[in-house]
Formats: sequence, structure tokens, C-alpha cells
Amino acid sequence: MVVIRSVSAKSIFDSRKEKTIEVSIKTNVGEFKASAPNGKSKGKHEAKSYKKNLLGDIETLKKFSDYFSMENIDFFDDLKRIEDIVSGNVGANTLFALESAILKAMAKEKKKEVWEIVDSKARKFPRLVGNCIGGGKHSGNEKKPDFQEFLLIPNEKSTKENFELMKKIKEKVEQDLKEFDEKFKSIKNDEYAWETSLNEKEVLDVLLKYEIPLGLDIAASSFYSRKKYLYKNPMLKRDSGEQFRYISNLIENFDLFYIEDPFDEEDFEDFSKLTKKFANKLIVGDDLTVTNPERLEKAIKMKSINALIVKPNQIGNLTEVKTVCELAKKYGIKIIFSHRSGETNEDILADLTFGFQADFLKCGIAGKEREVKIKRLIEIEKDLAR
Ligand code: PEP
Ligand code: MG
Repeated sequence: MVVIRSVSAKSIFDSRKEKTIEVSIKTNVGEFKASAPNGKSKGKHEAKSYKKNLLGDIETLKKFSDYFSMENIDFFDDLKRIEDIVSGNVGANTLFALESAILKAMAKEKKKEVWEIVDSKARKFPRLVGNCIGGGKHSGNEKKPDFQEFLLIPNEKSTKENFELMKKIKEKVEQDLKEFDEKFKSIKNDEYAWETSLNEKEVLDVLLKYEIPLGLDIAASSFYSRKKYLYKNPMLKRDSGEQFRYISNLIENFDLFYIEDPFDEEDFEDFSKLTKKFANKLIVGDDLTVTNPERLEKAIKMKSINALIVKPNQIGNLTEVKTVCELAKKYGIKIIFSHRSGETNEDILADLTFGFQADFLKCGIAGKEREVKIKRLIEIEKDLAR
């Protein structure tokens, strides 16, 4: 049983040099820390990262520190009592970091791994989804693809092989971009994906020759305004019917395997039409569903998606993350656990992905903050193979 003796927090920098929260807890079995990442192309319906601001949440945790000591924490579902204590007083980043630190303490106390606290029977490994070329909000260059992420989704035998293959292709793509993009400067964006001045069709042409399943995070809400999708490269406006036809053409012409957020975050209807038309592709909700059980229920009712992004700090509350995963599994919706664009060296995402038996882990290809998570998954794989 874990007994929390005190809780404190401080601000640290994420990979984008923006501040985020790190929570430390002192317990009967030692001291544990965990931090939360930061999003940039956030969904409108995400929970707020902090109640008012980061410093406010740090102060609030200090005030609540003594309350936690009354709780004995033994199982994953005991986290609910922690949530009840702080509910409404701190934001999603703070709650996620606090609950993550508690999970680490529980694992230590039980001499188990963190994923075993979630589900000790977990055995299936997720496929990796890695961002190779970027555009949209995550890239700082002027001329760029309007879509946010061009994803590689290898399907080799192990996580290690999948990771190696993604890295190899990303290196080769650098040479391709040198050849086809005269403005290319080998610069990496927020998620360490290549920045390019090519547009989405030109990028897909580059990636097609690698004969690897490809995906897009269109992050369509980020360029949707007054009922139009506002493309800049090249400059043109598409209404929702035109967007539907354009996305359908891309899926067909480039045999895309995975399409995240192809429409605005309120447009459950167009998602539904696309899922119906392409039942054998992954039509993925991120800004649409924001790891929120109620939004997922609506998406299920309207048959809007067949796959779903889970970002624990979109909701903050790990018992709701569990509800979302259970709902998704019940309705045959594939689960993709995902990093955020501003990441920290926290690796608990790998344990959560495996513990919740997600189908995919979307976690970039490079940069130490992303590598720690993939390496942790490789470590779990190695331990289980022994
Ligand atoms: C995403 O849209 O999938 C993403 C990682 O964005 P962010 O973390 O910036 O919200
Ligand atoms: Mg997304």
C-alpha cells in the first residue's frame, strides 16, 4: 500500500523551451517524480492544462499536500480518490503528472512495472507511428505543407525493428528533400520532423517510394475558418464538400493507411461519411474526441471514427483515460496513444500505452524526449521476451 507523505511541484522546460509542470511525491516507499507535456495544436474541447496558470497549480498542490496522506493507494482505481480530492482545483497537466508519480510509487511498492499496475496481463505491443515530415502549426518555416504531420507506420516484427526502419527512412528522406526542395535546409520542427517547402502532394510523392504504410495528421481545425479550409500551399479555399473529395482522392491516390483529423473538430458528420467510405482505413479522431468519454460516445453514436488518439493530458484524469480506452475497445475502435509536440523526458507514456493495450504509439522518430519513450517500450518488450 502506498501512503503519500507530501506532494510538491515545480516548473521545468519542455522540448520547445516552454514551461511545464513536474510533480514530486514523498511516500512510504521513496520519492517519485513525473512531468506533463504541452500541446500546441490543441483541441478546443481539451481540458485546461492548469486551473489558472502553472504557478497557481504549484501553490494549490502545496496546500493540498496534507490531504493526500489520509488515502491508502493500492490499485489503479484508487487514483479516483486522488482525483476527487483535487478535482476542479488543478488543471489537466498537473493532475496527469501527479497521478503518474503515484503510479510509479505503486509499481515500486509492489515490485512491479508501471504497466502491470494498469494491466498485468498486457502482452500485445503497439505499432509505432512516427512523424517524418511536418507542416502546419508545428513548423516555423514560411512556405510549408498545410497538413501538420506525414507519418510512417512500419509493421515489422518488433518495436526495435520498427524504430530502426523509421530512423533509416527519415535519413533517406533528408536526401530526397535536398534533391526535390530547393528551399530545404535540413531543419527539424517541434517534433523533430523535417521542415519542407513542398506541399502535401509533393511530400506524399517523396514518401510513396518507401513502400511503408503512410499516415497524415491533417489537423484540419488549425486551418478551418468561416466554413472553409484555408490552404496556403497553394493558396485556395475548400468548402467541406471539396475537402471531403480532396481527402478521398489523397487516400485513394496514395493508398493512405491512417488519416487523423481530416475535418474541423465539430464536424462529426463529415468524419462519419469518410469512415463509411473508407472502412478499411484508419479514420482517427484527435481534436474531435480529445480523450473525452462524452465526445467519444458521440463519435461512436455517429460512427465518426474507427480509431482514436489518446493523449492523457487532454483530460488529465487517468480514470477517464481508462474509461475512454474501455469504450473504444468495446466498439472496436483502434487506440493510438500519443505524445504532445512539446515533450519532456518523462517515459510513462510507454507504460500507459502498453498497459492499456493500445494498438499504436505515436511518438515521433527522433529527439531525446521521444526516444526515451520508444526505448522504454523496447525495454518492456525485451523483459517480456526473457
Ligand atoms: C497532434 O495534433 O497530434 C499533436 C501532437 O499536437 P499537439 O501536441 O501540438 O497538440
Ligand atoms: Mg493530431
